[in-house]
Amino acid sequence: MNERLPREPDPPSMGERVGIFGGTFNPIHFGHLRSAEVIREAFQLDRVYFVPAARPPHKEGEHLAAPVHRLRMVELAVAGNPFFAVSTVELEREGKSYSVDTIRYFRTVFRPGALFFILGIDAFLEIHSWKDFADIPALCHVIVTSRPGITMPPRDRFLPVALQAAFWYDSACDLYRHKTGHMIVSYEIEGLNISASTIREKIRQGKSVRYLVPPAVESYMAEHALYQARGVLRC
Ligand code: ATP
Repeated sequence: MNERLPREPDPPSMGERVGIFGGTFNPIHFGHLRSAEVIREAFQLDRVYFVPAARPPHKEGEHLAAPVHRLRMVELAVAGNPFFAVSTVELEREGKSYSVDTIRYFRTVFRPGALFFILGIDAFLEIHSWKDFADIPALCHVIVTSRPGITMPPRDRFLPVALQAAFWYDSACDLYRHKTGHMIVSYEIEGLNISASTIREKIRQGKSVRYLVPPAVESYMAEHALYQARGVLRC
């Protein structure tokens, strides 16, 4: 048992391929789960770690459920899938939750070349504003997934300017390569048009979120009155 990845049963061995899927998960929904499953299958990942952000730098001011609630919902959502696990690393770290720090941490545990950082195109298009963003593809592979409603940029405008010098385009494989051997690859998924913000809004309006989140997550949110409007009289 690897003591360095708490609450992760049966961690993969050093030779395995590991996905890191960070997010606010406020709350986790079927769009996240389906995306992770498609990527796991396509890239033959042995394990995908969902990493809830405790203090996401880009989501300040949003209605953010307490980290412990978001963590619990992720745990409930991935339960029963032997390929999915949850990492609490960002909840145990002080300060803001920067992805690069998480990836550096995973690199202390897993071999070079084993890590695949998964993020949606909406997040990737803002990566130039992330802490030490240029270090991320130097530390691991990066998989950028499509997301319904967001157009994938054309190949020649896909990489942020600040990353372009460090990569070359491998036309045979249709991906970008870094001198470390890591790749940045975009992957079109048949995505589910679900977002956490629309789920929160539905709950605030007292509407159903059934079939948008796993039943256990739906029950948890109801039990803890998450995202509900306060002071609204229902008649
Ligand atoms: P919000 O609506 O509050 O902004 P969100 O639904 O985008 O939240 P996040 O936790 O911010 O969820 O997303 C974590 C990661 O999951 C991001 O990389 C994002 O691009 C990706 N993602 C979120 N929803 C989907 C979806 N429906 N399909 C594919 N990827 C998604």
